[in-house]
Amino acid sequence: MVPPTIVLFTQDLRVHDHPALTAAVGAGDTVLPLFVVDPRIVERSARNRCGYLAEALTALRAALRARGGDLVVREGDTAERVRELAERTGAEAVFLSAGVSRCAVRREDLLRGAGLSVRALPGLTVVPPGEVTPAGGDHYKVFTPYWRAWAEHERRAVLPDPGEVRLPGDVEPGAIPEGLAGAGVGAPAPCRLTGGEEAARGRLRAWLDRGLPRYARRRDDLPAAATSGLSADLRFGCLSPLELAEAAEAADAGAGAEEFVRQLAWRDFHHQVARAFPDLPVRDYRPRDRGWREDPDALDAWRRGMTGVPIVDAGMRQLLREGFMHNRTRMITAAFLTRTLRVHWRAGAEHFHAHLVDGDVADDYGNWQWVAGTGNDTRPNRPFNPLRQARRFDPEGDYVRRHVPELRGLPGRRALTPWRETEPPEGYPPPIADPGR
Ligand code: FAD
Repeated sequence: MVPPTIVLFTQDLRVHDHPALTAAVGAGDTVLPLFVVDPRIVERSARNRCGYLAEALTALRAALRARGGDLVVREGDTAERVRELAERTGAEAVFLSAGVSRCAVRREDLLRGAGLSVRALPGLTVVPPGEVTPAGGDHYKVFTPYWRAWAEHERRAVLPDPGEVRLPGDVEPGAIPEGLAGAGVGAPAPCRLTGGEEAARGRLRAWLDRGLPRYARRRDDLPAAATSGLSADLRFGCLSPLELAEAAEAADAGAGAEEFVRQLAWRDFHHQVARAFPDLPVRDYRPRDRGWREDPDALDAWRRGMTGVPIVDAGMRQLLREGFMHNRTRMITAAFLTRTLRVHWRAGAEHFHAHLVDGDVADDYGNWQWVAGTGNDTRPNRPFNPLRQARRFDPEGDYVRRHVPELRGLPGRRALTPWRETEPPEGYPPPIADPGR
């Protein structure tokens, strides 16, 4: 009997446009789709991501069952569990989507070290990291030239549905651990997105129909919340970034599509940086002496959304409530922490990472370093005035009032400057640092 091919799912929890799954199905014999819940990763992960993950695994299992297969679930060290299953079933090959994090690279090495033939296929980005490189370098350090090369690069074709997935007969599927949904660190968000490919594809359709055409005009409009909200679906691979880019381009949405696809290129950009610089979560990409300050009280106020600067607090509270924050307030809150309060970017990134459903090593730490001026920004000392940002992107204070109930009594733009009130709103603090002018 021909041994099965193991398809190891990681950040690619879908059946559509999944090169590793399609290649394994196409190889002809049985396929063993596997996800390993590693408690060491789970306990460090955000509770919000664990919740999404549990739902995404349930949806993936249903999608594989609908195609005649199943999702085999195991707990423990990934390489160890793969090796055991390979031994039991006679599998010699593992197909997976190539990842960029230190953990992903190590996993591949361990599998190879266990004597398995590992095929790492694309699937986590539109253009795989390393496929576009500058002359004489292994990665682009600046976005604009990357974007130009990225836009011209010939892409692989989006794959059709993999069709029937045949499981080897004698493998116990195993249960998705009951405690997974409630595991991890950080406060659970009361209004978190539902995880899984089916929900993600529903969001994708709604986005293409209704959101994309107005994206270019309104993506920075804070109260309108006019961005796709697809970041967590991309983070867990419930959507294929390539399929998304191609669908956006085909949607005849003009400037909206172009601007949106450019954001997907930003995501790819950070992935190729993370692959070339795996220390991204812990070390300055471009070392600069920023003169960081230890200020536990200020950090605590920032985390809780109690800095007294409404636009900062609104963003931080959106994060706690939804496990999500608008890109514009991600920039404002990160700049306030690193530039105004001069607290190290690592402290901010760790808090984001403990709460974001879309929290991802490349995107979170890459963007934090970008804002802090230690990353890929060509203008590391770019000014970032929170009040000016608030006036521009939340001119009537609607976003602020939505997320900071203490300010709901202040009409219009007065909600942006409560410190100017003769009777400051009850329960809301004065600014802990210069809120800008
Ligand atoms: P849309 O505006 O609809 O954009 C579409 C997609 O493009 C997003 O879903 C995302 O996948 C990608 N994208 C957009 N902007 C960026 C960007 N600057 N960098 C990388 N990808 C981008 N994004 C994450 O996915 N995970 C993170 O952990 C994360 N941390 C961030 C931390 C900071 C300090 C900052 C400033 C940005 C961070 N971002 C992160 C990028 C961006 O804020 C989010 O991707 C975006 O807000 C998600 O909302 P959306 O899906 O509605 O985005």
